[in-house]
Amino acid sequence: MMEYVTTPVVPKRIALVAHDNMKREMLEWAEFNKYVLAQHHLYATGTTGRLLEEMLGAEVIKLQSGPLGGDQQIGAKISEGEIDFLVFFWDPLAPHPHDPDVKALLRIAVVWNIPVACNRATADFMIASPLLANEYQRRMPDYADYISRPTPDNEVLPA
Ligand code: PGA
Repeated sequence: MMEYVTTPVVPKRIALVAHDNMKREMLEWAEFNKYVLAQHHLYATGTTGRLLEEMLGAEVIKLQSGPLGGDQQIGAKISEGEIDFLVFFWDPLAPHPHDPDVKALLRIAVVWNIPVACNRATADFMIASPLLANEYQRRMPDYADYISRPTPDNEVLPA
């Protein structure tokens, strides 16, 4: 049976992450959308969060810096149902030491059907969506079959 999670009207819980070469882009986008963002709860990886807080003058819940585990912390919050919306400006032209974390964050956002903007145009469309200021019934994928699948642990293994 398909389940839905009701995302609150306002505030939504928005996570923001930008790689170093994309931080300027993130700050410009956030400044342009300052008044909309002020209506929501903001979460960010450490450095992105510090810069956003300075620029917006609004509270941002700052996690670890991305390469130190911040991407994984945001992923964990998504899987716990604590994030409604992710803006993730990852840099397509630079290698990163935490590349597996970047991939993991993008993956977990898809697993839990969270809207994700990976570039400014998508972020513009998402923040301009009427759904942002309305209750949204987010469809939850049904993982019951996956969770109850047979595993080797269910079998009698040799001691
Ligand atoms: P930062 O992390 O906001 O701490 O720079 C971003 C990232 O690289 O994931």
